[in-house]
Amino acid sequence: MISFFNFFKKDTSSLPIFLFNTMTRKKERFIPIKKNSVKMYTCGPTVYNYPHIGNLRTFIFEDVLKRALEYNGYQVNHVMNITDVGHLTNDRDMGEEKIEKEAKKEGKTAWQIAEFYTEAFKNDLKNLNIVFPTTLCKATDNIKEQIEMIKTLEKKGYVYKTSDGVYFDTSKVEDYAKLSHQNIEELKEGARIEANTEKRNPTDFALWKFSKTSEQRQMEWPSPWGVGFPGWHIECSAMSMKYLGDHFDIHCGGIDAINIHHTNEIAQSEATTGKKPWVNYWLHGAFLNVSGGEKMAKSSGNFLTLNNSFIDKGIDPLVYRFSTFMTHYRKPMEWSYDILANAKNGFDSLMEKISKLTETHNSTHTGQILTNWKDKFTIAINDDLNMPQALATLNELLKADETPEDKMATILDFDRVLGLNLHKIKVPVNKGYIVFYGNTPNTEIVNLIEQRTIALLKERELTRKNKDWKKSDELRDKIKELGFDVKDTPSGQEIKRI
Ligand code: AMP
Ligand code: ZN
Repeated sequence: MISFFNFFKKDTSSLPIFLFNTMTRKKERFIPIKKNSVKMYTCGPTVYNYPHIGNLRTFIFEDVLKRALEYNGYQVNHVMNITDVGHLTNDRDMGEEKIEKEAKKEGKTAWQIAEFYTEAFKNDLKNLNIVFPTTLCKATDNIKEQIEMIKTLEKKGYVYKTSDGVYFDTSKVEDYAKLSHQNIEELKEGARIEANTEKRNPTDFALWKFSKTSEQRQMEWPSPWGVGFPGWHIECSAMSMKYLGDHFDIHCGGIDAINIHHTNEIAQSEATTGKKPWVNYWLHGAFLNVSGGEKMAKSSGNFLTLNNSFIDKGIDPLVYRFSTFMTHYRKPMEWSYDILANAKNGFDSLMEKISKLTETHNSTHTGQILTNWKDKFTIAINDDLNMPQALATLNELLKADETPEDKMATILDFDRVLGLNLHKIKVPVNKGYIVFYGNTPNTEIVNLIEQRTIALLKERELTRKNKDWKKSDELRDKIKELGFDVKDTPSGQEIKRI
């Protein structure tokens, strides 16, 4: 599908794009396999809990990458999976399966758990203005494809059976450690922690796990090897190849995927096709850590969601999107209330500056995108997504000696990558009111707040007409409780998020 923006663009930008490729550990010039188009796969969420803001940091970085490629004129075919089966509590195929474990805990079926948290994930995408993947595919909808891939691997001699499943023999792959850059002994050592004595090599991984005879699983399928469910890694290989073919441009995820998940994806994919490389560019986002440097993780329970740390508190979720731009995607980011306050101030001040532009804007004059500023911005994002530099360029432009109309046109063009909904900054809701929304994310909660706020503003205008100042002040306090400051101006009431 051609995206909205690509529809208007004829060719790719002449400015080169450089991306840091984990495979070579170098910043490389990006050259797509097919001119003008990019095929990209990103590992999606394991849907046994809400995505935490660490997971969302990775999804935002991937969204910025996709938007940057589109900004440069590429048509992007983006596939993301939903892991709704197969991810065990230990990435080395030990422990319980995460979704069935959560189902037992919550007293629901595994299918209900997966469905519920998939919807929660989609809501987060909407609230963060993350463009939906071209294809969002579930592991459970693609069991046949995964079985077919295992059958091919079996025919080629990469597979062996143990009492609990079907395994991939990593000793058959010479360059098994090429992505992680570890030597094979280090990898084996890392894998030895929870040894499965039937594995031929510690790094071998499950392609198919058998259901235990003692217990009926909720999610299980017949296979040529026995009833069970697919291993975690096979879904990404099978689904990416189904939708993108057996050689594509970009594969992304968080850095925790490098040593096991992506290493195993490469081993089984290249063994299946017999062709190398399977993927040309591997990009990985650094962690969001909780204070003290520990990774934010669903399994540790030490995590924040977009709902509990932003939406429920009346903070625009796009403040989080904005905050992730302040640190380069390959640098760790530590989450704290100071970072949040800093990001909120930065976001509010940006919104205020942009809304001032629209005030002085001459509505009869349409602005032009300023090419020198566009180039400066493009050079920043094309330098391995240097978002701190891109924000600095935006701030410089706001101060520059250009007309408000041209500044606005150029900023809205930048927003194709930033995704901060800058076109929604100021919406006059009624004659006499000027309302600073910041922006209007599409969530029921935020919409509700806004409707209630608007109703109070209307009531307040009446009390002011009737010179009932006491009541008017009471209403100002009520509006404040909903998260907005009210200012009386000659043209009406102005509200601004606190
Ligand atoms: P999961 O739902 O655990 O399968 O993870 C979804 C995505 O989030 C994967 O790309 C992970 O690598 C990534 N991820 C997990 N934890 C973090 C974190 N603390 N910070 C950034 N990304 C993370
Ligand atoms: Zn994956």
